[in-house]
Amino acid sequence: MNGRILIIGACGQIGTELTVALRERFGAERVIASDIRNGNEALMASGPFEIADAMDYRAIEDIIYRHKVDTVYLMAAMLSAVAERFPKKAWDLNMNSLFNILNLAKEGKIEKVFWPSSIAVFGPSTPKQDTPQQTIMEPTTVYGISKQTGERWCEYYHKKYGVDVRSVRYPGLISYTTEPGGGTTDYAVDIYHRALKHKHYRCFLKADTVLPMMYMEDAIRATISIMDADDVDVKIRSSYNLAAISFDPEASAASIRKHMPDFDISYAPDFRQEIADSWPQSIDDSQARKDWGWKHNFDLNEITSVMLKNLKPQYG
Ligand code: NAD
Repeated sequence: MNGRILIIGACGQIGTELTVALRERFGAERVIASDIRNGNEALMASGPFEIADAMDYRAIEDIIYRHKVDTVYLMAAMLSAVAERFPKKAWDLNMNSLFNILNLAKEGKIEKVFWPSSIAVFGPSTPKQDTPQQTIMEPTTVYGISKQTGERWCEYYHKKYGVDVRSVRYPGLISYTTEPGGGTTDYAVDIYHRALKHKHYRCFLKADTVLPMMYMEDAIRATISIMDADDVDVKIRSSYNLAAISFDPEASAASIRKHMPDFDISYAPDFRQEIADSWPQSIDDSQARKDWGWKHNFDLNEITSVMLKNLKPQYG
């Protein structure tokens, strides 16, 4: 790979940190960030940036041509909770943006693609514990349906047209740099902000809702690792199961109480409870560990320490 990298949806929760990580590694000028809106100050100051709509094929093609891009990370999407409110918009964005990139790769205009899937591809009929790589997949959310369909298309473009597309099924991601973008696991980030601001959090999921989660640094490392892997080692071209830890809101609150004994949590489940109940509680990611050496680093207590330490200055 000698060309440049384009990140679409670079101003979001993952894109912001992925852009920084890739710029540190390859140099700022080789990594083009793009989104339909501006990102935070640090991101905007860190290197080249283009405003573009991921659904506009010509606009993306133009950026690829002008900047000599050969690798695309497609991070633009509508997330699970928001997608339930705007099903058609979610479908259009999540599918059309993917088709644009897969077709650009098929036409030889780019060489390599990263596109993230999600644990939302699974549904209520999927085994909930140690969910296997290959299992029953009957997603019941708009978002999950779009991710499952996306996985099928990625595999199809790889088999049929030799497109080098790589993907992981992210669990819920926890980070302090950027606010989460409207997913069902957002509570696991919000809880730290509220703890520092109000010493109280009203959680939109029930106390015992166990979900797979991961610290952002681990997720970024996984993303870069699968893109670094030798072609032959990437045996799954739909999307890899990827896991770190699983916990429920009560465990998250308990880990915060180790630092802030007077922190208190209450529960007011909303429509997101049903989405969470349809997802796995833990994921078997042994194939990713075997094929390209995946290994997570952060457990819940480490995540809580880093989150509280880094968010504290914001709240005085
Ligand atoms: P996010 O909502 O924080 O960021 C998405 C970004 O895409 C935003 O900056 C938004 O402005 C941009 N965007 C929206 N519409 C666009 C368009 N038409 N053209 C260009 N940009 C557009 O999302 P995220 O959490 O960073 O997620 C990135 C990817 O990872 C998504 O595909 C998401 O489904 C997947 N994912 C995220 C999580 C998570 O916990 N964050 C978990 C599983 C999968």
